[in-house]
Amino acid sequence: MRDQILAELRPRVQKLAARRPPGLAVVLVGHDPGSEIYVRNKIKACADLGIYSEKITPNETISTGDLLGIVQGLNERREIDGILVQMPLPKQIDSRRILVSVNPDKDVDGFHPMNIGNLVAGIPGPRACTPAGIMELLRRYEIPVQGQKAVVVGRSDIVGKPIALLLLHQNATVTICHSKTVNLEEECRRADILVAAMGRPAFLKGDAIKPGATVIDVGMNRLPDGKVIGDVDPEGMRANAAAFTPVPGGVGPLTVAMLMSNTVAAAERHLCSA
Ligand code: NDP
Repeated sequence: MRDQILAELRPRVQKLAARRPPGLAVVLVGHDPGSEIYVRNKIKACADLGIYSEKITPNETISTGDLLGIVQGLNERREIDGILVQMPLPKQIDSRRILVSVNPDKDVDGFHPMNIGNLVAGIPGPRACTPAGIMELLRRYEIPVQGQKAVVVGRSDIVGKPIALLLLHQNATVTICHSKTVNLEEECRRADILVAAMGRPAFLKGDAIKPGATVIDVGMNRLPDGKVIGDVDPEGMRANAAAFTPVPGGVGPLTVAMLMSNTVAAAERHLCSA
């Protein structure tokens, strides 16, 4: 599915490249090993697709003010269509100020409050990549959403809340669960579509789903032995779910594909209005 999405983007990139290639700037502060892998994958996806990319790697001791200066510089560069500041940022940085400083039109992560407002109101704009990837997956596998009961476990700003809103816009009946939810498994068992985005390794077992449900596992939990597993128990899901996304694989690669999609769409807007 990732390859299909990227293949569809290729002719759009080629068309844009007649004027100039789309441009993505990735700011990676410090040396968080997980972040380094994510950024490497994003830069590689750009190279494969013909998107110009630039990696900016400030020292991990950088101040909020200096980082704001870097983002401001990228906001002003015409050949940069998308800006991504890799999270998490070091403790001394005011992450919220950094997110708000990205020009909303270059916010290919869809994290800027203006784009979150657009999402709430159903106004077109860049959507957060992981939730957007999940919606693509449901659409391309022709899994019905309208009228279905969807349960989202997790309420973060980057996954839980946006996927709940996207499902709602597609007329699902949505329940959002979190760490204070009472009888979590009972809630999960009501779901036709269950989205697990909690960051708890193999937390949801096979008996926490309705037989025949569609299960989207967003979790990426690294175990001490280096193995990455999701938030649901794959054996239990294999026995009970009609369809479920594996970890690794599944949602992760789609996230990068949707970042590419958001970058191409931003370049199209910028070159159209130039
Ligand atoms: P956060 O830690 O920001 O949020 C986790 C959410 O899960 C919170 O809302 C929390 O509730 C809830 N939660 C935690 N424990 C429980 C529990 N025992 N019962 C019910 N709810 C619980 O995580 P993210 O949203 O950023 O990420 C979630 C997972 O998805 C992580 O494993 C992350 O690595 C992965 N991820 C994967 C991506 C991909 O591309 N595949 C992209 C982004 C994230 P509360 O709010 O009450 O604390």
